[in-house]
Amino acid sequence: MAGEFELIARHFTRPGRRAAAAVALGVGDDCALLTPAPGQQLAVSSDMLVEGRHFLSTVAPERLGHKALAVNLSDLAACGAEPLAFTLALALPRGDDAFAAGLARGLFALADAHGIELVGGDTTAGPLNLCITVIGQVPPGQALLRSGARAGDTLWVSGRLGDARLALEVFRGTVELAGSAFDAVRRAMELPEPRVALGLALRGLATSAIDLSDGLVGDLGHVLARSGVGATVEVDAIPRSAVVAAMPRALQHTCVLAGGDDYELLFTAPPGQDDAVRAAGTRAGVTVTPVGRIEATAGLRLIDADGQPIVFTERAFDHFA
Ligand code: ADP
Ligand code: MG
Repeated sequence: MAGEFELIARHFTRPGRRAAAAVALGVGDDCALLTPAPGQQLAVSSDMLVEGRHFLSTVAPERLGHKALAVNLSDLAACGAEPLAFTLALALPRGDDAFAAGLARGLFALADAHGIELVGGDTTAGPLNLCITVIGQVPPGQALLRSGARAGDTLWVSGRLGDARLALEVFRGTVELAGSAFDAVRRAMELPEPRVALGLALRGLATSAIDLSDGLVGDLGHVLARSGVGATVEVDAIPRSAVVAAMPRALQHTCVLAGGDDYELLFTAPPGQDDAVRAAGTRAGVTVTPVGRIEATAGLRLIDADGQPIVFTERAFDHFA
C-alpha cells in the first residue's frame, strides 16, 4: 500500500527522461507547460473509463493502462492530430502498488510507442476510474472533422470490426469460443491499437473521419448528421476476423454494425482517390477497405453483396438509454 504522493512519485513520474520537444514542464508543479509547434492548433480530447461500465474487473492492470490511453489517442487519430502529451486523473479504491505499477507499465509502453509524455493529472481514492486527456497538434484547417462528408464520397474503414463485441458476448455468456479464438478477440477488446499514423496520413485526403467506439451504425450516424448526407453500406464488405466470420449471420451483423470498442477509423474520401487512400493505409501499416458510398438522400441504407436490403434494428450504445 502507498499514499497519494508515493503513488504519483513511484508510478506516474519518470524523472531524468529527456522530455518531448513540446513539453516545457511536466509532472510536479501546479500546471504542465506545453509548447506546440508555431502556428499549430491544439487538439484536446478526454475519455473516461469506469469499472463495470467500460471494462470488466477481470482485465489485467497493464491492459487497462494501455486501453485508457489507446481510446484517447484514437480520438486524436480521428482528427488527424499529432499526439503531444496527456494527463491522467485516477481514482483508485486502495493505494495498491502492484495495481498502479501494472497500470503504469501498460500506459507508458503505449505512450513511448507514440513518443508522448504524461505531464500531469490527479490521484484520489474512490471507485476505480481513469480519465485521460490527450493533447495533440494539427495545422489550422487540416483537422479531419465529422462534418466534411460529401455525396459521392467513398466510405472507408480501417482494420477489422467486431472482435471486441464478440469478446464481450463471451464474457456475457451468450457465445462460447475455443481458447485461442477467445484470446484473439479478447486481445482486440483489451489492447486496441489507435490509428494515429493513419489519421496523419489521411490529412488533406479524407473529407471526414470518426473513430469507431460505439459501433459503425451509431458512429456513421454522427458523420451523416453533421455532414447533412446519407449513405449506403454494403454490410458483407465490412472486414472482420475469421473468428467473427465463423459466427451466425445475425451475430456477425451485431458485431460489425453495433460492436463498439473497435477503435478503427471510419472515414470518407472523394471518388477517384482510392489509390491515394490505399497508399495512406500502406504507409500507416493498416488495411483500409471501402464499405459504402455517401449519398445526398438522408438516412443509412444497409445492403448485402447482392444489393438486397439488410434489416438491422439494434440501436447504438447509449449510457443513459
Ligand atoms: P494539486 O494539489 O495542484 O492538484 P497534486 O498534489 O494533485 O497537485 O499533484 C501533484 C503533481 O502531480 C501535479 O503536477 C499533478 O499534475 C501530478 N499528478 C497527480 N496525479 C497524477 C497522475 N495520476 N499522473 C500524473 N501526474 C499526476
Ligand atoms: Mg490534485
